[in-house]
Amino acid sequence: METIIKLENVTKEFPSKNGTVKAVDNVNLEVKKGEIHGVIGYSGAGKSTLIRCVNLLEKPTSGHVYINGKDMTGLSQEELRKTRQKIGMIFQHFNLLKTASVYDNIAIPLKLLGYDKSEVDERVNKYLEIVDLSSKKNSYPSQLSGGQKQRVAIARALSQEPEVLLSDEATSALDPETTNSILDLLLKINRELGITILLITHEMGVIQKICDHVYVMENGNIIEQGSAIDLFTKPREETTKKFLNTISQRKLSANVISQLQLNGKVCRLTFVGDSTGKPLLSQLSKEFNVEPNILTANIIELKNGIVGNLVIHLIGNEEEINSAIAFLNEQNVGVEELEEN
Ligand code: ADP
Repeated sequence: METIIKLENVTKEFPSKNGTVKAVDNVNLEVKKGEIHGVIGYSGAGKSTLIRCVNLLEKPTSGHVYINGKDMTGLSQEELRKTRQKIGMIFQHFNLLKTASVYDNIAIPLKLLGYDKSEVDERVNKYLEIVDLSSKKNSYPSQLSGGQKQRVAIARALSQEPEVLLSDEATSALDPETTNSILDLLLKINRELGITILLITHEMGVIQKICDHVYVMENGNIIEQGSAIDLFTKPREETTKKFLNTISQRKLSANVISQLQLNGKVCRLTFVGDSTGKPLLSQLSKEFNVEPNILTANIIELKNGIVGNLVIHLIGNEEEINSAIAFLNEQNVGVEELEEN
């Protein structure tokens, strides 16, 4: 699959009272055509600055941004304007014109780009249909719910027929149910129109539901990245684990862990693919002198598969427990020892 977005050693600095702030620090990333990639991080990590570097709303201090192999940082204003049409963007607060109808919110930018009346009309109707909002054509933004406003913004972005859609916290102002319906819409756009999506978010649920590939960002750096399945099964960094613990039931309280550690170890086992079908726990108690006791179990549905999560208390002496853990590791099961902290 060909690469559509490539960031090479991108750094963005801002001057501040106390010297320079490096909002983005030497970031590399590569998005293949047709994929959905997500950048997750806490507030201040540099996510907004990073995504704004992709369409050069922020000009990188150094490094290169390639769209379809073309270096955006070297383009003239005119060329940049043209290439930007290939990149749509949606925002947390929708950015709709309050005094224009739904129809005009989509039509006005198209008219400014020089499309004639019939082409404008055709596109507005086509994309309102895709976002399931044809019936609200003549409404004004103030008459719409948050989810409906985001649908208008998505239709407006799509009406310019971009190859890439950038999403800057597009679901952060929405309730969980509306968030889900907007994420379903983004999946549909990706699958049916083949549009590549790069999004930023602070919600792990967004990553879980729609992303193929994930970047964890902190202090301007990408501290960990991988396929969504890899990140959910084998997280390395503390920040990644903290984000994963925001997915329901993944976290166990320190109190419970400290009690259980008195006679054994508490482990999270993560299953994916082949390892899901094996009766591993009964094998553990047969082959090692340990007793596995299930504390919590759940499955997490990702865009590209299902990950099983099992938290167990392994009761036994340390040596036997360590041999059992080594055995689990060999069986392609992710094993994370949970410590009280
Ligand atoms: P995030 O989107 O992850 O919350 P931002 O990209 O908004 O992070 O900000 C990253 C860092 O860069 C923060 O420390 C922020 O204060 C700083 N920053 C962002 N934009 C500017 C700006 N225009 N001028 C000065 N500092 C900025």
